[in-house]
Amino acid sequence: MSRIILKSAAVAFGSVAVSLLLTLIIIPALGFTVDRTVWLTSTVCPLVLAWIACASTFWQSDRLKCAHRDLARAHAQLAAAHRRLSEKASRDDMTGMLNRESFFAALDGSRRKSDRGALLIIDADHFKSINDSFGHLTGDDALLLIASAIERGVRSGDVLGRIGGEEFGAFLVGATEAEAKRVAERIRREVELIRFRPVDERTVPLTVSIGGITCAEDANVSDLMRAADRRLYEAKHRGRNLSILDRDISEAA
Ligand code: GH3
Ligand code: MG
Ligand code: MG
Repeated sequence: MSRIILKSAAVAFGSVAVSLLLTLIIIPALGFTVDRTVWLTSTVCPLVLAWIACASTFWQSDRLKCAHRDLARAHAQLAAAHRRLSEKASRDDMTGMLNRESFFAALDGSRRKSDRGALLIIDADHFKSINDSFGHLTGDDALLLIASAIERGVRSGDVLGRIGGEEFGAFLVGATEAEAKRVAERIRREVELIRFRPVDERTVPLTVSIGGITCAEDANVSDLMRAADRRLYEAKHRGRNLSILDRDISEAA
């Protein structure tokens, strides 16, 4: 407040100075004498008017600045909340991996950037029998253990998603055929090594089958999915707990 009073005082005194200067030039030029009334009028009027007008203007301007700062803060908070919400909406609640929609969006984005790499589809084996034997909640625990094992198997920077109930997708960015085979085997092995003991000391085996395809720059998402799916089906058919990978779409046909 005192800043406003001081600023408006400065403007008011400036106005008085200008008013006096003009009075001293104009009044004599018009042939009148500058008497006490003229001195008083040309001093008091600008002093009072300019002070009040300036104080009100500066006060309004300060309020506007405050409102603007509050708005900017609210805007930043909204943007952060929006980022948090869209991050949450893109994730699978249970595993924290990307959900199906976001995984395919990420895959599509990487295709448009023409990233080379490999797509793996990882499906838990005979998962229905886990649910049937131990219940759905215990099945959920098993699924979380499998998801963690998959996370341990991939490299940092790879894109992971839960693309179905007990089915996961991994896009291994920039992976060569040999690297993709190594990662697929590592995932398979990590799951196989899980010691899942839902009721007693007896370990219930958990395994996954993996179908994969390496991709050239021009391959599109649905062709890749189809090809990886075919290899997954083959792995299931050949007894499960297996990873099968093709080098490119033409080989997968
Ligand atoms: P396969 O080796 O051929 O893949 O056999 P499967 O039993 O895993 O495959 P199927 O498609 O017959 O069954 C999938 C099972 O996965 C059935 C479904 O209830 C279970 N499942 C899917 N999502 C979840 C989940 O979020 N939690 C639990 N507990 N089970 C789930
Ligand atoms: Mg399955
Ligand atoms: Mg499945």
